[in-house]
Amino acid sequence: MPGEASCYSWDDRRQLTIRVAAVFHGHEGPWLVLGYRAGWRAVEVLEPRSVFEMSCVVRAPLSTPFTCAADGIQVAAGCTLGKLNIKLEPVRSPEEIEYVFTCRGRTLHLKLKPWVWSRIKEISSESGLTEASRWCMRQELHTMFEELLEP
Ligand SMILES: [Zn+2]
Repeated sequence: MPGEASCYSWDDRRQLTIRVAAVFHGHEGPWLVLGYRAGWRAVEVLEPRSVFEMSCVVRAPLSTPFTCAADGIQVAAGCTLGKLNIKLEPVRSPEEIEYVFTCRGRTLHLKLKPWVWSRIKEISSESGLTEASRWCMRQELHTMFEELLEP
């Protein structure tokens, strides 16, 4: 429960790396990386004090690889299925993908820019998944996501 001494603080949680995310997920892929980086950004911006404070809605087409992002978010942001502070909300098209984080009354929308998923598709088919995920690691976050913080 929030505030209990046995809860992990963010200092502990933040030690989970993208490598850990790949082990948890089972493979390294661009969508895992996108989710991981978005989750990390949400922690930076919203500064949750425990793993219970933040929640996430993953708005994505309900199919892989798009849903792979949810595993990256779980590892980076500590919003997990078991704690019921992450949920998937289906959208029709990859152009509608966004990750919405809420913490202490503030909401951060990270909306994937439409060109990103088509670029990922291109790189994946030309050079493979690993190259596509490395590409996602190299991009500046603001080139891939539109960021909106409310209030
Ligand atoms: Zn995957």
